[in-house]
This record gives sequence, structure tokens and C-alpha cells, in this order.
Amino acid sequence: MVQRVLVTGGAGFLGSHLCDRLVERGHDVICLDNFFTSQKSNIEHLLGRRNFELVRHDVTEPIVLEVDQIYNLACPAAPGHYQYNPIKTTKTSVMGAINMLGLAKRVKARILHASTSEIYGDPEVHPQAESYRGNVNPIGPRACYDEGKRCAETLMFDYLRQNDVDVRVVRIFNTYGPRMHPYDGRVVSNFVRQAIAGDPITLFGDGSQTRSFCYVDDLVDGFIRFMDLPRGFHGPMNLGNPGEFTIRELAELAVRLSGSGSEIRIEKPLPEDDPTRRRPDISIAMEKLGWEPKVPLEEGLIKTIEFFRSIDLASYRPPTPNY
Ligand code: NAD
Ligand code: UDP
Repeated sequence: MVQRVLVTGGAGFLGSHLCDRLVERGHDVICLDNFFTSQKSNIEHLLGRRNFELVRHDVTEPIVLEVDQIYNLACPAAPGHYQYNPIKTTKTSVMGAINMLGLAKRVKARILHASTSEIYGDPEVHPQAESYRGNVNPIGPRACYDEGKRCAETLMFDYLRQNDVDVRVVRIFNTYGPRMHPYDGRVVSNFVRQAIAGDPITLFGDGSQTRSFCYVDDLVDGFIRFMDLPRGFHGPMNLGNPGEFTIRELAELAVRLSGSGSEIRIEKPLPEDDPTRRRPDISIAMEKLGWEPKVPLEEGLIKTIEFFRSIDLASYRPPTPNY
């Protein structure tokens, strides 16, 4: 059935791919964004579509809309972006969640919230299952994001218990692909941009820290499956690719797949509170959604490299100086 769907952060990396899929499925899509970390080029191709609408708005302010489903993605996601104005980051997570939950409550919409593996902090349990409560430093440089996202999860489950709002919480693990902002400072965008340019690849620390990288199409598939699940399970649910790689392995792969001559060098020590390892346990997603990622890292990286080669870097404004 055709739904009226709101995607906050809809012009961003994940949001724009989600909007593509929802428009393709015939839904009436409202993309809401303040363009802090994105630009219109991500959704330009949708602007003429009769079932797509763009609203410039900041989620820290309330908004009156009539919708059936809300995907709440609005929030800077890259460390350099969310640390640029940390107070605003917490406000975006917390006030944004309150405003979107208030909207969901008023119009009886279902809401899927984009939480993060960061709520596990620097994990002492490996791989991370949803039952793990995390190891977050509440006063460190990542806290604005981690604690903001933890509080947003709290709000989701309180609106469920107190107001019967149909919430769904996903904890997203590092996701990459075309339309990542080339200047977001995240590891995949940095390494691919550097490899293509033949610039040195900037390892933070010795590169032995690990991450698990999910290709964007797989993640968006998980979002939609969870949103479409009949009411009963509210999460939290990990979504990510369990393949685990050291950051040095990622650097080597980016260099090899780009056919680059870039040297890999240690740029600076590991940033404060940088998690040393991360891998999702996706048993719940497999059981509830029959979902697991399909795209291997090499294949996804090749598509990402193609995207980065195809864009004009000069047309991208760095959202913050941190990249
Ligand atoms: P992104 O920066 O590309 O997208 C975020 C979007 O939200 C941008 O378009 C930005 O302009 C918008 N935004 C930021 N603050 C806003 C505000 N106050 N009001 C309205 N719009 C605002 O990042 P992304 O990777 O697409 O992340 C999307 C969501 O997924 C975020 O909530 C992020 O925390 C979550 N997430 C992403 C990953 C990942 O690896 N990509 C991992 C974990 C969680
Ligand atoms: N990283 C790196 N070089 C870079 C950017 C990031 O070595 O140019 C490291 C970073 O320290 C972290 C990992 O890559 O250990 C992933 O960083 P990212 O910012 O992509 O996301 P995070 O998972 O830390 O939120």
C-alpha cells in the first residue's frame, strides 16, 4: 500500500539512497533536511518526481506534517562533523527525536530511528549483540554523539511504553558507498579520495583497530524490511556487515582497488575514545527480517571508487574543517 513517508536527513548519504528506494516503490516521500552535512546533488534527480517533496527544516524545531511512516536519520554521523558543534549534535539527536516522536504520536505514524553501534562505545564484548549495554565515556569528545543517540533510544522506548508509539530502533554499523560526502573525514571517504589522488593514506594509530563495513544498498534493504514488519518487535536491532577488517587492511584494499601508488603512513595517534574493535552480531536481524548483507567489501569499494572518480570534488563544500 502507498504510504506517506517522511525521511529526516533525507538528503544525506543513507537518506538519499533510502529516498530513492521509497520513491521507486511508489510511496509519497517527504525528504526533510537542513543540509548541514549534505548537498542537493544527492537528491537532485528526484526533484521532478511527482511522489517526492523536499523540505528544508531543522529537526530541533517542531514541524506539522501528515505522514504514515517516519525514518529519523537527521544527525551528523562522521566524527569530524559531529564534533564540530557538539552541543548542536546532542540537540539534534535529542530534540530531533522528541519532535519526531511527538509527530508520530499525533498522527499515529510508525517511526524507525537510526541509532548507531557507537552506543556500545569502545566495546569490551565482541562481537556486539543488542543485549550488550556498552562502554561509553560520557564526557569525552565522542559523547555528544554517543550519549545523544543513547538518549534518543531511551526516548523511543519511553514513547512506546507511555504513548504506544510504534517505534523501531536500528543500530547501524559503519556503512559506506556512493554519495558519502568526500570531505566527511570518515575512513572510507578519506582513503578512497586519497588513493584516487595518489596522496598518502592517513592511518590514525597503527591501523590495527577494526571496523565492519556494510554496503549502503544492504543497509537500506534492512531499514525497509524492518519498517514493513508487522507490529510486534521494536528492536533495538543491529544492522551491519559482520565481515571485520583492520583499518590497515582497508587502506591496502583502497590502494589496490584504485590502482594507486599511494603510500600508507601513520598520520597521528589513535584519536581519544576511538573504539579499538567493532563487529555486529546480526542474529536478531537474520531471525526477524531474514536479512543479511550480500555485498562483499571489495565489490562495494569498487562501486565507491567509481563514484568518487565520477564526481567533481570542487563542487563539494566541506561541511566542517575536519577531514
Ligand atoms: P550524513 O551526514 O550523510 O546524513 C545526515 C543528514 O542529516 C545530512 O543530510 C544532514 O544535513 C542532516 N542533518 C543533520 N543535522 C540536521 C538537523 N538538525 N536537521 C535536519 N537535518 C539534519 O550521514 P549518514 O551516514 O547518511 O547518516 C544518517 C544517519 O544514520 C545518522 O543519524 C547517523 O547517525 C546514522 N548512522 C550512520 C552510520 C554510517 O555508517 N553511515 C552509522 C551509524 C549510524
Ligand atoms: N581513520 C583513519 N584514517 C582516517 C579516518 C579514520 O585511520 O583518515 C580511522 C579512525 O581512527 C577509526 C576508523 O578509521 O579508527 C573509522 O573511522 P570513521 O571516522 O570512519 O568512523 P568511526 O567508526 O570511528 O565512527
